[in-house]
Amino acid sequence: MVLVELELLSEAELAIAIASEYNPTRISFPNTPDIWVRDVLNIGVDPVYLLATLKAKFLKHGGKLLEFTSCDRVKIHPNGVEIGLGEGQLTSKLFIDAMGHFSPLAAQARAGKKPEGICLVVGSCATGFEQNQTGDIFAAITPIQNQCQYFWEAFPARDGRTTYLFTYLDAHPDRFSLEFLFDEYLRLLPTYQNIELAQLNFQRCLFGCFPSYRDSPLKTPWARVLLIGDSSGSQSPVSFGGFGSMIRHLSRLTSGIEMAIQADALSNQDLQLLQPYQPNIAVTWMFQRAMSVGIEQQVHPDQINNLLAAVFRSMEHLGDDILRPFLQDVVQFPALSRTLFQTSITNLPAVIPVVPHVGMITLLDWLINYINLGIYSGLDPLSKLLNPLLTQLSPQQQYHYQQLFQAWKYGSGKDLGRYKLKIES
Ligand SMILES: Cc1cc2nc3c(=O)[nH]c(=O)nc-3n(C[C@H](O)[C@H](O)[C@H](O)COP(=O)(O)OP(=O)(O)OC[C@H]3O[C@@H](n4cnc5c(N)ncnc54)[C@H](O)[C@@H]3O)c2cc1C
Repeated sequence: MVLVELELLSEAELAIAIASEYNPTRISFPNTPDIWVRDVLNIGVDPVYLLATLKAKFLKHGGKLLEFTSCDRVKIHPNGVEIGLGEGQLTSKLFIDAMGHFSPLAAQARAGKKPEGICLVVGSCATGFEQNQTGDIFAAITPIQNQCQYFWEAFPARDGRTTYLFTYLDAHPDRFSLEFLFDEYLRLLPTYQNIELAQLNFQRCLFGCFPSYRDSPLKTPWARVLLIGDSSGSQSPVSFGGFGSMIRHLSRLTSGIEMAIQADALSNQDLQLLQPYQPNIAVTWMFQRAMSVGIEQQVHPDQINNLLAAVFRSMEHLGDDILRPFLQDVVQFPALSRTLFQTSITNLPAVIPVVPHVGMITLLDWLINYINLGIYSGLDPLSKLLNPLLTQLSPQQQYHYQQLFQAWKYGSGKDLGRYKLKIES
């Protein structure tokens, strides 16, 4: 709907871009009843159509697109940026880096720092499954193996059924390769989907490696450079929903970038306001830690499954208003607090091992982010009262305050639920 609101797609085009839709989806852990939810991660997007439609619109409005052109240098001047494209070059007021996780600019800004977390994902889309009406948003079928917990996802797709195996790791050099994880995927897929590999007709295979840095979103150290999408590291370290995260922030970024350009607020401090600290993302670091195992850490094989089963059971007990935002990758203070309280009183034995598992530093860091989440939640309503006063200020000051208000809103997950309209495809 944000694409419709920003007039990038018509409702008819959006309906075509939605290639598939299904319900319900399942959360499943061994030895505990499954949880079923509706309308979460239940839409498949046709990327070819989506990109072709957006491209046509961009060109129609005078945009220039240089496909198959590599950006190999960016030079910042006091009055603009020079963008090197092999032999050629472009000049601009602002350079927006959307070059993904392995953006050379992001690597330079991070000075070669190793990511604290890595999510590895492998999977495929195949036909031949007997059951393909429902999906799995989060499933585990095995205890901890190879110093990590395997998680599964499955979705009915237009071309068959998509199944993923993913896991959270640190970036230790002794960790296994994506190739090994693919072998594991093929070894366990028959058990997971109750089908022989020979019955499947693979349409495509896919894999990915998502680095995540504690110091996120990345604060660009340069004037006139803004990182967005995966290169900015602004998505949650527990989901690999970078596309969803970008879509969620698209409206905020679009108006923020326009304001920054018009107010000539393009210093590094100005642009950092567009990728602010968000406590609701920062708190998820501990979840990532709790779902991963150190390379030499001794952990009970069922610890992660027990913890997740207890947390999800609490969320289910507390209702859809608590469970749904979490599954949509949005952490909110009241929901998080109630879940923690409920899990602690109903299943303390599952919670206690988390403390030595994640360590005191991670726990204290989490506590600070949790308190900040509460503060941001409390501050957000203030922005409505203060907004009318902004007209008295200079464009630069207006830009600064607007970004602060947006940080309170998005940083506390209050942006959720803006789009209620349901498109029938
Ligand atoms: C298997 C898998 C499943 C996923 N599932 C989901 C999902 O269900 N939901 C979801 O929300 N997200 C999902 N994601 C994540 C999602 O695909 C990414 O978050 C998203 O594509 C990030 O978009 P981006 O534009 O920031 O970066 P990218 O899509 O990585 O695009 C970066 C672009 O920059 C180009 N580039 C890089 N360097 C240069 C250069 N020097 N010059 C010019 N161009 C350059 C690259 O060629 C590329 O086209 C999944 C990813 C994988 C791998």
